[in-house]
Amino acid sequence: MLNGGPLPTVIAGPCSAESEEQMLQTARELKKDHRVSIFRAGIWKPRTRPGLFEGVGTVGLEWLQTVKQETGLLTTVEVANTQHVEEALKYGVDILWVGARTTVNPFSVQEIADALQGVDIPVMVKNPVNPDLQLWLGALERLNRAGITDLGLIHRGFSTPSNKPYRNHPKWQTIQEIRNLAPGIPLLCDPSHIAGRRDLLETVSQQALRLGADGLMIETHINPDVALSDASQQVTPAGLDKLLTVLDLEKEKVAQPEQLQDLRALIDRLDNELLNVLFLRADVSKRIGEYKRANSLDIYQSGRWQQLIENRLKAAGDIGLDEEFVKAIFDAIHGFSLGLQNEVFAASAVDNPVTQAK
Ligand code: PEP
Ligand code: MN
Repeated sequence: MLNGGPLPTVIAGPCSAESEEQMLQTARELKKDHRVSIFRAGIWKPRTRPGLFEGVGTVGLEWLQTVKQETGLLTTVEVANTQHVEEALKYGVDILWVGARTTVNPFSVQEIADALQGVDIPVMVKNPVNPDLQLWLGALERLNRAGITDLGLIHRGFSTPSNKPYRNHPKWQTIQEIRNLAPGIPLLCDPSHIAGRRDLLETVSQQALRLGADGLMIETHINPDVALSDASQQVTPAGLDKLLTVLDLEKEKVAQPEQLQDLRALIDRLDNELLNVLFLRADVSKRIGEYKRANSLDIYQSGRWQQLIENRLKAAGDIGLDEEFVKAIFDAIHGFSLGLQNEVFAASAVDNPVTQAK
């Protein structure tokens, strides 16, 4: 079910089920939009502080059943424990999802997996609140071991030291990273929880589609301004229609023009690795400088340098790298390394003027 057709899957519906009327009015409008196939609604809401609106509970599942009967839309809800799973199954919910606050906790994910043992239902897993892809992957594995094979991922952004201007930082490179870790699992984006505000939805959705997202989950409310949760990020069904039209899902999905974005994410990662390696190399250089100083060796040892550069150029040639390019890089690295060792010698001369005088 989650490995949908050629176009991105669109899941829409309110952050929270609030009343039967709110659910039905929203769903009836959404049904008119052929691009929307799944209706979402939060029944039990994980709230940061107690006393806020914590969801309507089981009665919301009855309203969801009515939505399904009347519109034919598939339905999906968030589950966080055994009771939620049992109730959702009892009321015929089509697809379940594990929320960001649950994915962080392997005990809770395991509880859900145990409750789903032997059940044939698609389950989507939102990324954990913190940017830990292993936790995300671990949740998929726990569900898979319980026999769930129709799995999906939902990218909803991460809590980082500075999320601005987003509510949750998208850390776009994680799309590629989780793809590599979980190949073949459909990945949807939840721009609503990344953006946190309506005016950023288009940019975030567009970027996700360009990175090859298989679908979008967008919070949609018949009257967002009076929503009991996440009011500022929800759109009306008409707003959603406009957004999906601007996004031009068909073009995005078929053209996949932003392979460039994937490649750039890869370059960014490789450059980071290069910088880390250079940092480690500089540290080793300094330690060699300390050894040379302690053993009264010269900083520059021409035999060693000749051997090193010959070696590196041969290794470069073997893997098809341009030798002139590699020579220029190692000249720079070697020059920098000598500079660091000179600093080590100079510092010791200042620290130890007696030795220097000898
Ligand atoms: C939600 O989808 O309404 C929700 C609570 O999302 P998240 O788990 O991403 O915070
Ligand atoms: Mn929400």
